Amino acid sequence: MPVMVLGFICSLALGSAAQPIFWESEIALALESRDIMYLQAGIRSTEFSKMEPGYHSPAVPLSPDTTTPWPYFLKGLSNSGDVHDDADAVSYFTKAIASAEKYPGRMWVLSVEFERCGLRDWQEKCIKKLEQIFLASGAQAAPVITQQLLYKAVKMSGKGLGETGELYNSWASWFDKDDILIHLQAVQSAGVLSLTKVLPRLQDIVDDISSSWKIQLGLVKNICAWFFTFLFIAMAGILLGLGPKYFSWALHLPSERLPDVFAPKAKLFLALLVFASIAFLGQLAFIWCFFFIIWRFCDSKDKPLAMIALVLFLLFPLSVKLGDMFDQVLSPGGSVMLYKKALDEGYYHQLDSCIRARTISNNADYLIHTASALYSLKKGDPSAAAPHLQIAQRLFRNNPAVLVATGNTLFYGGDLAGARGAYQECISLYPSYEPAFFNLGQYYFNTMETAKGMEYITQATKLNPGYVNAFIKKNDECFSKDWPPLRQLMAPDFSPMYFWSNIFPEYCGTWNTASQRFGGMFFGFSLPLYGLLSLGLLAILLMMDSLVWSKAVVKKVTACKLCQSIVCRKCKRGVICKTCFNATQQIRNEQIRQRIMSKIQSRTVRFRTFTAIFLNMFFPGSGLVYRGAPLYQSLSLVATTSIIYATYIALFRATFNFPTWTVQGLIAQAYLVLAVYNIFFFGQGLVKGFRELTKRGE
Ligand SMILES: [Zn+2]
Ligand SMILES: [Zn+2]
Repeated sequence: MPVMVLGFICSLALGSAAQPIFWESEIALALESRDIMYLQAGIRSTEFSKMEPGYHSPAVPLSPDTTTPWPYFLKGLSNSGDVHDDADAVSYFTKAIASAEKYPGRMWVLSVEFERCGLRDWQEKCIKKLEQIFLASGAQAAPVITQQLLYKAVKMSGKGLGETGELYNSWASWFDKDDILIHLQAVQSAGVLSLTKVLPRLQDIVDDISSSWKIQLGLVKNICAWFFTFLFIAMAGILLGLGPKYFSWALHLPSERLPDVFAPKAKLFLALLVFASIAFLGQLAFIWCFFFIIWRFCDSKDKPLAMIALVLFLLFPLSVKLGDMFDQVLSPGGSVMLYKKALDEGYYHQLDSCIRARTISNNADYLIHTASALYSLKKGDPSAAAPHLQIAQRLFRNNPAVLVATGNTLFYGGDLAGARGAYQECISLYPSYEPAFFNLGQYYFNTMETAKGMEYITQATKLNPGYVNAFIKKNDECFSKDWPPLRQLMAPDFSPMYFWSNIFPEYCGTWNTASQRFGGMFFGFSLPLYGLLSLGLLAILLMMDSLVWSKAVVKKVTACKLCQSIVCRKCKRGVICKTCFNATQQIRNEQIRQRIMSKIQSRTVRFRTFTAIFLNMFFPGSGLVYRGAPLYQSLSLVATTSIIYATYIALFRATFNFPTWTVQGLIAQAYLVLAVYNIFFFGQGLVKGFRELTKRGE
């Protein structure tokens, strides 16, 4: 049973499809070119630990390819010696960086090489150059860089090098300002108790959540998933307690149909197996059968519990629908995520082909066409943007993203007056959408109307101070007044408000997609049909309960007065079962008879105690349900256990946008804390069980 229910819950786990990763192939290519060059120079990975200033490679490369940074880097390294600012070394290293200027992958790998040789200043120069390449490409997020820097930050602070860790952490934030893991890593390495460092980070986390619809989306999705897991585990816990209590009642009459060659217990066991085989029809059918079978025998004290479990079970279709809604929006190949990627990442071929494929398969989707147009701008090809924009305008002209994308395309294409018109139209329709204000300000700067430009930039800043100020500051820091084209205009991202009220409802799938997710879980019924059917089943259950089961039918089976096993008219002898009858009838001596009877009774009591202890060891609370403890006790413990177990499952299922390196430490700690709960109840169960056993010896 518990495995069944857990399996049922785990079957809800979501798969995640592969997706292109920004700069991944660039880095792979750079590593390849480095390895080829190092091989020529006789450097294998075993040499890496020896590489430091003054290092001479074992062999001189045959054909030093000076279009790559590696020969310069090795020459600089051999020239640097003890004196780090040696003029030759500086000139070689500068050449190395210059030759990587246009290649983000090479720049990154070069920074790694400097790091390995302990040349942190040069590493920092590379990272700064890499940031310029990153910003000039119009990107806002390069998780592949952020995650590796965070990983190093984790390792550094693990070695006790807190300050270096902080440096890596701040570099990581350059390449993805919206990654909450950056703040979590900082909090973790500073220690939760150092308030001066932790409080601003907590503030950052709150700001990030409140300003980014993508973070909110992930958060709400995970909370929803956790909450439904919690509800269904609670249902499982209740059923786990009620099942052992009522199965022998429910299955007695069916078991009597079996031939008498089996002992009564074997018959019951076989009937239980037959019942369990219903699970092959699907978990939902199984749980419905479960309710129908035990309901008529539930005593009035257990009915409320059974009812609670049933209500939780009725929420299942809702959980499927909600899960599907989030998955549709978050689908890596879906329009919303591709749009976000088109905004957040620079140009690379794989993403371009993903977006183009989507524009063909979903030709009537304005969002993917807008994404395609914006991505053409990143490629530096405004003319390629025009046809997609025309389609987007035809589909949804008065959309803020479409209007700003139109403005940006005209701006980059040289039609400044047209761009102004688009921005102005957007401002008149959406007077709180800051990218339109900012970009209109940029238009006025370009036409030398600085005062007007300032006015609009100020208005943009008022609308979203955090984002706009950071945008301007970053530009000034990296490019002073000479902003690269893709940093002059803001990309039309959505405000969280606009996202939840317009984008989410439009892209969260249909009953059809939800039914696909539901699949054949209930005899191939579609999800809405199953929802209706489950309401029908509920009505039938309640009707049977009040009209049929409350009547005398129940009296067909009763409990044996001695051993409490279930008997029917066929197998009872007077008020006791056959077995008890055989055990006591022959005894003439009244005292011995009494002793045997009380022995049978106490054996029954002990069996129940052990069952309760056993249940409580694995699902704390279900034993209380089994024993019929007061509702407030059993329910609160079942709820607590469900919280813990749902959290286990959430941790187990959690996926992050890139390898989990950075949070591995946190996850391990969380597992340990949660395990305390189970260890406590397991230990308590063992102690109680041992006490029961020693009582027997008395
Ligand atoms: Zn009996
Ligand atoms: Zn019977």
